[in-house]
Amino acid sequence: MGNPKAFLTVPRKEAGYRPVHDRIHDFGEVEQTLNTRDRQEQASRCMDCGVPFCHWACPLGNKDPEWNDALYRGEWETAYKLLKKTNPFPEFTGRICPALCEKACVLYHTTGEAVTNRENEAAIAERAFQEGYVTIEHPKRNGLRVAVVGSGPAGLAAANALNYMGYEVTVFEKNEAAGGLLRYGIPNFKLNKKIIDRRISVMEQEGVTFRYGEAVTSAMMLSQQQFSAIILATGTPVARDLKVPGRELKGVHLALELLSQQNRVLAGMDFSKEERITAKGKDVLVIGGGDTGSDCIGTAHRQGCKSVTQIEIMPKPPVGHNPNTPWPNWPVILKTTSSHEEGCVRRWNINTLEFLGENGKVTGVKVQEIDWKPNPEGGRPLMVEKNEPEIIKADLVLLAMGFLKPEHPEYPENVFVCGDAANGASLVVRAIASGLQTAKRVNEYLSKQ
Ligand SMILES: Cc1cc2nc3c(=O)[nH]c(=O)nc-3n(C[C@H](O)[C@H](O)[C@H](O)COP(=O)(O)OP(=O)(O)OC[C@H]3O[C@@H](n4cnc5c(N)ncnc54)[C@H](O)[C@@H]3O)c2cc1C
Ligand code: SF4
Repeated sequence: MGNPKAFLTVPRKEAGYRPVHDRIHDFGEVEQTLNTRDRQEQASRCMDCGVPFCHWACPLGNKDPEWNDALYRGEWETAYKLLKKTNPFPEFTGRICPALCEKACVLYHTTGEAVTNRENEAAIAERAFQEGYVTIEHPKRNGLRVAVVGSGPAGLAAANALNYMGYEVTVFEKNEAAGGLLRYGIPNFKLNKKIIDRRISVMEQEGVTFRYGEAVTSAMMLSQQQFSAIILATGTPVARDLKVPGRELKGVHLALELLSQQNRVLAGMDFSKEERITAKGKDVLVIGGGDTGSDCIGTAHRQGCKSVTQIEIMPKPPVGHNPNTPWPNWPVILKTTSSHEEGCVRRWNINTLEFLGENGKVTGVKVQEIDWKPNPEGGRPLMVEKNEPEIIKADLVLLAMGFLKPEHPEYPENVFVCGDAANGASLVVRAIASGLQTAKRVNEYLSKQ
């Protein structure tokens, strides 16, 4: 620990977002960066706790105190080497991880002001690319071939780790480019896609082969003879739908239909007027109060919506602290994202009854306020109607209610499943951790053959 008093004298300082009036008109990343002096000062706040809960809370086991100390001392290359030991893609998590480590930080629990681990991680990763600490390695080949199906963070992490172990890795991706939800879910204002291209280029130079536009089916996969092992990292392709009357109306879309199309438009792809989903000039209703819903809000603003409302069926979480989710649980508290800051009506305890329309197009949504009462028989609380149904005017409705956990048949023993495909919809950091663990399992399996 470089400066033992820094946690007492240096307050947490976040880089913050670009001003709303500036960022709302483009899809550039909203988060800013601190200057080098401030960044190193932020790293100095880490107390190098005897039992560092941040190690435990980070699914990758990132050694935050170690690299924070190197960062404080200005030893950026050492910081990157320490970070790289546990995290192959800190440039992704440094931007979009919800920072599970920060909610475990002792400073968070004592002062409410965790060390800025996530931002520090992003700063170390960016410096590493700028200063050339990210070098191209040429692993010695072991003669075995592994196929990875899906190039989201789980597939990329597995492919990267196996490549370093000497396997010849081919990644099959059904889309036209790599990244999975990093590229076709998460908006550019949270993660610029050049960051993904930069990492893919490193992986390609190190020997990983990417084959795009190739949707691998189970039948094809099972008949594959040329790979010693196959990893399925195919994510959660089926979104939860809302089958209430009027679902067929034009203007009611799954969130990813909007988000992935917008990301493709920004990548230069053309869509016909009929295909194009846009919020321009529209009253937008987002159903679902989570992060995907929030990404829809930010996208709707940038497309020029007239208004945007977000509704959630669950109650509003408390602000700041939730006694029902004490440490070490993840704190279920109200989250206000950069997209919410840009303007949005947010409502909770709202159930959706029906989509209403004229001439086949959605014009509004019938909703009803509800309450949740304890279930006398235990289990899930009971939903009870509260007020009379009401209509929210909307000519674009986005369904952001999560994804179904995929089910898998029994595969041969050389087929492994990882990431969201194995665990259900989760986080980028968990997908990377799952990819790394799966690479280890594959190596153990093949080493015994
Ligand atoms: C809108 C949105 C925003 C999110 N924001 C965040 C965030 O800010 N922070 C965070 O931590 N997490 C976020 N998440 C969650 C995170 O993106 C996922 O948990 C993570 O991407 C899962 O990684 P994965 O590799 O398992 O799957 P995916 O990223 O879904 O990748 C699966 C890949 O497999 C490919 N594929 C599927 N089937 C086949 C096939 N048959 N053949 C070939 N390829 C196939 C798909 O095309 C895709 O590229 C967000 C999710 C969404 C939807
Ligand atoms: S990956 Fe996430 S949880 Fe892990 S150290 Fe980075 S910000 Fe924290």
